[in-house]
Amino acid sequence: KLYNQVQDLKGSIRVYCRVRPFLSGLSNYMSTVDHIEDGNITINIPSRHGKGHRSFNFNKVFGPSATQADVFSDMHPLIRSVLDGYNVCIFAYGQTGSGKTYTMTGPRELTEKSQGVNYRALGDLFLIADQRKDTFNYDVSVQMIEIYNEQVRDLLVTDGTNKRYPLLIYCLIYSQTGLSVPDANLIRVSSTSDVIDLMNLGQRNRVVGATALNDRSSRSHSCLTVHVQGRDLTSGAILRGCMHLVDLAGSERVDKSEVTGDRLKEAQHINKSLSALGDVIASLAQKNSHVPYRNSKLTQLLQDSLGGQAKTLMFVHISPEPDAVSETISTLKFAERVA
Ligand code: ADP
Ligand code: MG
Repeated sequence: KLYNQVQDLKGSIRVYCRVRPFLSGLSNYMSTVDHIEDGNITINIPSRHGKGHRSFNFNKVFGPSATQADVFSDMHPLIRSVLDGYNVCIFAYGQTGSGKTYTMTGPRELTEKSQGVNYRALGDLFLIADQRKDTFNYDVSVQMIEIYNEQVRDLLVTDGTNKRYPLLIYCLIYSQTGLSVPDANLIRVSSTSDVIDLMNLGQRNRVVGATALNDRSSRSHSCLTVHVQGRDLTSGAILRGCMHLVDLAGSERVDKSEVTGDRLKEAQHINKSLSALGDVIASLAQKNSHVPYRNSKLTQLLQDSLGGQAKTLMFVHISPEPDAVSETISTLKFAERVA
């Protein structure tokens, strides 16, 4: 029985890799991606990094021509399971500029076609909730927070004050509200357009703290959490599910000899939380009995959605440019460890 449970854990973690297209000038023959075949991606390693090829396997690989719709196409069962009372965690990993925000949100000039996972997931959620309206009554609420330098801030504030106070993360067993960040605004939504307004508010709050040269969004984790409560109209039974949609901080390593002060502190915090995330997922994948959730705010926040009955989907992003190859390899190695 225990063995089966442990098998389930492994079965609930999926890893998708996405390669973004070249953004300018360079044509695809320059790409570090040699070829993609089903779930396999082969990287060309240029001579100065020890010439050769290296292959990695994932549940799926999306090449540069994959559309936002392609990427979302098989995610419907995952969204449905949130309405069935499961916890789901979808996150985007990769170096800055590799396409994390594009996958989760979309490009800056957003069109319906270019909407990312967040919008599509919420759209799907409302659609399925509506299809079930004769049997279930669903309440949907969202929170949006940011983790910067191991401090949690509410992104859904309108007066700018709350942002100054770091919020606490509660272990769900001790939280009377059923929320792991009870002090962050929890806002009831009833349509995708409500959610779009809130995401825009969160995005604006994220940018406020950033100076022109320092795009803070690449150095903080942002998390949109959707809480769903469903009431079975015949039995009156209540079920709860939640979905975390996480745009992680850039995974690039910084050269410690080149940065100092605040920048070094940020880098160390990011490093610590991403390796804590890797350790948690790897220990779940390896079926370890001890899962080290307590090592970072990020893993504490996601604890209820990683492992157990929860379903996890990680998108790892890589850039095709030859000068990104060492980050590309280290991203793929990180992902391989959990795939
Ligand atoms: P990150 O969030 O990882 O720093 P972004 O999502 O901001 O990276 O992507 C960097 C740039 O590349 C943006 O201009 C974005 O619109 C573009 N981009 C990323 N992925 C794609 C894609 N799959 N197709 C087209 N443009 C993309
Ligand atoms: Mg981004």
